Amino acid sequence: MQQKRTELSELGEFGLINRLKTYLPAQNYHANTITGIGDDCAVLDNGGDEYTLITTDILAENIHFDLAYTPLVHLGYKAVIVNLSDIVAMNGTPQQITVSVALSNRFSVEAIEEFYKGIKIACENYKVDLVGGDTTSSKSGFFISITAIGKVKKDKIVYRNGAKIGDIVCVTGDLGGAFLGLKLLSWEKEVFLANPEMQPELTGKEYPLQRQLRPEARLDMVLEWGNLGVKPTAMLDISDGLASEILHICEQSQVGAFILEENLPIDTEVFNTAVEHNLPPITCAMNGGEDYELLCTFSPQDFDKIRKKMPDLTAIGVIKEKELGAILQTNSKEQVKITAQGWKHF
Ligand SMILES: [Mg+2]
Repeated sequence: MQQKRTELSELGEFGLINRLKTYLPAQNYHANTITGIGDDCAVLDNGGDEYTLITTDILAENIHFDLAYTPLVHLGYKAVIVNLSDIVAMNGTPQQITVSVALSNRFSVEAIEEFYKGIKIACENYKVDLVGGDTTSSKSGFFISITAIGKVKKDKIVYRNGAKIGDIVCVTGDLGGAFLGLKLLSWEKEVFLANPEMQPELTGKEYPLQRQLRPEARLDMVLEWGNLGVKPTAMLDISDGLASEILHICEQSQVGAFILEENLPIDTEVFNTAVEHNLPPITCAMNGGEDYELLCTFSPQDFDKIRKKMPDLTAIGVIKEKELGAILQTNSKEQVKITAQGWKHF
């Protein structure tokens, strides 16, 4: 009898994770395992008044990055940042990382040094210790796996499932820049492949390029609202695009959300450049991803305490009843259902 073959593309990333959950052990051998899969980090309770946070990510060449336009120093930096961002998304502070790489002999020692230079700068900027890792060879392609460890006071931890009806939905920074940056780089690559004599035309587009190549984790935001004595009710970092992250909060908190397009923070340079290239800025913001900003919800009382003091935090909507679902009201006052189109690697 022939076994049924299911294509990975049928399931997508989240479908695959859900299906594999059936095969995972029950996570009840140790009392210090608080939560496992399903949030930005795993949470461990090793006693005292803090939790330990752990997160890990793989970056694969030509899936997550293209060395044709990614300087290795930026790649090293970004590989660290995407992990620190997940610690921050639990309202935590990153402390250590381990770095594992698989590389082929097409890389020179100098190239690998460039990559580690980026890792070093990220560690210095975020005061994180590199405490271990592994290096191995690869037949083709460059693979990076980083694990980050952090901490958070037990009463300060923020999960994805705490959003309540009436909470204010906020994002830090601005959205869509990283996706536009990626588009600009891949368009330039096509132009270059078609005609190697052509020089890249990227001046005046520094901001989206920086957003794509050298993102930051918003630890500053977590420290800022912590100092103001508040914490979000739910939070995650925007790695796959705002739309898919809103759906995560709605699903895990069992709520709906009403988001206003007119409130979405999009940088002027990003907005104009997107329009110039016939790319709707709203698509960059909703479905782009890789901005590594934070999507968070605050109680109206807490939001009142910080709204005037945190200019880099923008209210984009409100949490509603689950029955409403996740709705985006466009600038033309049309209400559309938010759907996730983030991730399609397979
Ligand atoms: Mg995350």
